[in-house]
Amino acid sequence: MLEKKEQYSLTTFLLGRKCVFCGSYLVCKTRRGYVKCNKCKRQKGLKMLRREMSILVGFHQQVPAHRLSMDLGVNFRTVERVFRKLRELVYHICELEGAKMSGEIEIDEAYFGGRRKGQRGRAVGHKSVVFGLLERDGRVYTVSADELTGIIRAKTRKGSVYFTDSFKSYNSLKRFGKHHRVNHTYTFGVRGKKYRSHINGIEGFWSFAKHGLYQYRGVSKSNFPLYLKEMEYRYNHRHENLLKSFVAIYFGYVST
Ligand SMILES: [Zn+2]
Repeated sequence: MLEKKEQYSLTTFLLGRKCVFCGSYLVCKTRRGYVKCNKCKRQKGLKMLRREMSILVGFHQQVPAHRLSMDLGVNFRTVERVFRKLRELVYHICELEGAKMSGEIEIDEAYFGGRRKGQRGRAVGHKSVVFGLLERDGRVYTVSADELTGIIRAKTRKGSVYFTDSFKSYNSLKRFGKHHRVNHTYTFGVRGKKYRSHINGIEGFWSFAKHGLYQYRGVSKSNFPLYLKEMEYRYNHRHENLLKSFVAIYFGYVST
C-alpha cells in the first residue's frame, strides 16, 4: 500500500493542483476541463490525467495489464500503451544511468523463460540467457550473452576485481582485472585488502527479477529485454520512491 506522503503527492497531481510535466503549482483549469500549467504552458485533460495516473499506480504495484484494465474499467489497449511507453523509457534510462562500475564486481548468468522442466544449463534454445554485473553495494546491470565482453569493457573500470562462478570460463576477464572463480564463501586478501569470495549479491538480484517477472505470468521472448530492464531499474532504485520516479519518467517531469 502507498504511504501517506506518497498518497498526498499523488493527490496533488490527481486533482490537477500540481503540474505533471514540470512540478509547478501554478496550474489552473480551463473552461474545457483541462488542467493548464502557467509555467510550462502544457495542458492535459483531467479525466485522461487521472486515468493515466491510476495506470501508473497499477504499474508500480506490478499488476498485469489485462487485470488492471478490468479493475479500472479501462480499455486494455490504453493500459498496454501506457505500460509500453513507460517500459521503453525505463529501458533507456537504465542504459544512460550511472558511472562505470569499479571495485568488486560479481558476474553471473541466468536463464529465463521456458516452461519445460528437466532441461537445464545453456543448451536450451527457447530460454533467454542473460548476464548480470553487480557492483558490490551498488548497481546491477543486465546484458545479453553476446554483448558481455563489450559491456565489461564499456561499463567497468580496468583493474576491478571480478567474481564469477566456476562453471563458465569467463576467460576474457583476465584482460580487465583480477578474476576469482567462486566455489565456496571464504575471505582472502589481495595486497592487504580483504575480499569476500561469493556471488550472493547478483544471485539476490536474479531471485528479485524472477519473482518480479512471475507477477506478470509469462513474458514473450521478444518483450523480455524490456521487462528485464524494468526489473533492473526496480532493483537499482528499490530504496527510493519508485512510484514518484515512474510518474516523473512517464510525464517527462524533471525534478530539481
Ligand atoms: Zn508545468
